[in-house]
Amino acid sequence: MEITFAGKRAVVTGAGKGIGRATALALARSGAEVTAVTRTQADLDSLLIECASIRPVCVDLSDWEATEAALKDLGPVDLLVNNAACASLQPFLEVTADQFDKVFNVNVKGALHVAQIVARGMKARGAGGSIVNISSQASQRPLKDHAVYCATKAALDMLTRVMALELGPYQIRVNAVNPTVVMTDMGIVNWSDPKKAKTMKSCIPMGKFAEVEDVVNSILFLLSEKSALTNGVTLPVDGGFLAC
Ligand code: NDP
Repeated sequence: MEITFAGKRAVVTGAGKGIGRATALALARSGAEVTAVTRTQADLDSLLIECASIRPVCVDLSDWEATEAALKDLGPVDLLVNNAACASLQPFLEVTADQFDKVFNVNVKGALHVAQIVARGMKARGAGGSIVNISSQASQRPLKDHAVYCATKAALDMLTRVMALELGPYQIRVNAVNPTVVMTDMGIVNWSDPKKAKTMKSCIPMGKFAEVEDVVNSILFLLSEKSALTNGVTLPVDGGFLAC
């Protein structure tokens, strides 16, 4: 299946590392004009060395005002990948107010805010668009020490559905992808323990974690016209974990 994004303008958040970085590069390779948003300038510098056409925006998306200012000159956008997130694992009884606010501010409030900014422009131009929120299998299954992270991803799934409901009439589609573990920086911090990884893999019918490319391919499909009538879905990329 040939997918091209020639002439499309895309924004990818959390594009400094992992899935977001690979998505930004894949979109640029497929012809899109890409704006990469993340909070570590060094990551943007190295991204631009890999792909000079990418437009960098450095901002901490947990800061509402800073985000508003950083994205005010974004211009027309056709495609948004709401990927930036953080995970801070704690036993439920030890969750702190600070950690709760920090993770919700990025994973939910930040995603909502960027989508608002982008979707307002899409609506005003009347040309539609496609938004993909990067959720997780953790949105639909309880994982030990993941209380706050699971709750943010469950919130993002429902946000996806409400956005699909409210933005659909403007031909703006909103979908999510829900990966299993991917061994990015985030995955390495949380899943390097061999015992923990083995237990998780034993619950995945295909017996393995996802590769970054598995996730990127599903994101590209949902962004593209190949999924033209798909709106409001949460697409597992999980080897069957959520099916069982
Ligand atoms: P990484 O930690 O590898 O990359 C996350 C990126 O998001 C980094 O560039 C990071 O920048 C950026 N980011 C985080 N917080 C902010 C912020 N406040 N403002 C701007 N940018 C920010 O994560 P992954 O690539 O693994 O994860 C990508 C997405 O996939 C996330 O939504 C994650 O929840 C989801 N996911 C990941 C899984 C996994 O096992 N890896 C499994 C299921 C879902 P910096 O490093 O500078 O903080």
